[in-house]
Amino acid sequence: MRTLRGVACCLILTGSLCAQSEFRSKLVPGERIAQYQDLAEQWLAEYLRVDTTNPPGHEMRAVEFYKKVLDSEGIESQVFEFDKGHDRGNIYAVLRGSGKKRPLILLNHMDVVSSDPKRWKLPPFSGQIANGYLYGRGAQDMKNEGLAQLVVMVMLKREKVALDRDVIFLATADEEVNGDGSDWMIKNKPELIHNAEFLITEGGYNFIEGAKVKFVGVDVAEKTTFWLTVTAKGKPGHGSAPMVDSAPNRLVRALTKIIAYQTELKLTPTVEEYLKVMAPFQPKARAEIYRNIRKYLQDPKFRASLPRDELNSKLRNTITLTMFGGSQQTNVVPGEAYANLDVRILPGEDPRKLLAALIKLVNDPNIEIKPQSEIFRKANSSPTNTELFAVFKRVAKEHFGGAPVAPILSSGYTENQRYRELGIASYGFSPYAVATEVSSTEHGDDERIAVDQVRRGFRVLFDVVTGVAATGQD
Ligand SMILES: [Zn+2]
Repeated sequence: MRTLRGVACCLILTGSLCAQSEFRSKLVPGERIAQYQDLAEQWLAEYLRVDTTNPPGHEMRAVEFYKKVLDSEGIESQVFEFDKGHDRGNIYAVLRGSGKKRPLILLNHMDVVSSDPKRWKLPPFSGQIANGYLYGRGAQDMKNEGLAQLVVMVMLKREKVALDRDVIFLATADEEVNGDGSDWMIKNKPELIHNAEFLITEGGYNFIEGAKVKFVGVDVAEKTTFWLTVTAKGKPGHGSAPMVDSAPNRLVRALTKIIAYQTELKLTPTVEEYLKVMAPFQPKARAEIYRNIRKYLQDPKFRASLPRDELNSKLRNTITLTMFGGSQQTNVVPGEAYANLDVRILPGEDPRKLLAALIKLVNDPNIEIKPQSEIFRKANSSPTNTELFAVFKRVAKEHFGGAPVAPILSSGYTENQRYRELGIASYGFSPYAVATEVSSTEHGDDERIAVDQVRRGFRVLFDVVTGVAATGQD
């Protein structure tokens, strides 16, 4: 019945009206939705039992799990075991569309961080349920979302959804350590991914207050790290004979300048839109700032207050002093002293410019400031005026009680950065509504997910995927 009504709607109304008024998951009969819910719960428990702690990873165990399901559903897949000796690999599956639009990639990483079973209520790889929660390392990061992606693939196939674009399922190894799985795909199988228009992976968070989702945060940009080491040199000596220009003294003088240094303020489109969306949730005076951030950035008083404001890191490159080192003994003046700076760079910014500015500021030939790594990944962002982002908004409205979608500039790292470099608009989106005390178990003890979220999340993702990929959605 529902399917028929959906079809009639598409015939009578224009495609876009139909797309706005109906969601695909609503067209799937209730008894079949219940079957998918049971599968989602059963498969996630099974997947959480696969130990892919990284290091060492052993992601081929997860590949095997995925392949078994994909094979039994008749979904074409390819396995890339890129490090045979260490049981590491990726799996790639695809459901073909008409080719009218470019592909959508559903990306998930299969590895998880380590866990200390002694600190857990239930063993981290037991996949057991207690008090309505499914426990397991990866239940938040990100076996939950990987599994939702798998269920969506199975639904698209079983429900015979006609697609305008290929939907690609890509599960990778090693995200938590070096990102070797994604790097391998990008380097060795670019033809399988480079043509994609969109990518969805982890990141993003749906903020809950009480039982209500206040906003749906979608990661569209990330800062990158540009860690620096400051090294001062001077004459070594005895602590009883102070020297004005000792290495530690030079270092402290340099650091005093650096911590007082205010980097240039820069309003990115992501942050401007974020502030507009978040303004209604702020107290009145604060909302005024959020709505008129351009004006406030001209105001010397506001600018001076920013270093103590949580908005600071969204509006500039930041420099945080985190480590010092010098002598091992109180009575020894060392010939060398160092400090480390955690520097985070906004999308579109050139870190070399900041480095040059710091060297000029310190202005001491006995001080060297050097990046800790030769490799620097430029921070990047994805636009918010895309077809997929519009679908996030529609789906958020439908599934999260009208919650607005806030584009997030994240200070953390996700693999989105690597795929954006290929020209793919990449987003961090979570189909789950998770209370903070549960989402904070990610990387912590007792990582878990509410069973009702397991039974719900894949439907949210299914509506996102069909919203942007099913035939007749534009
Ligand atoms: Zn993750």
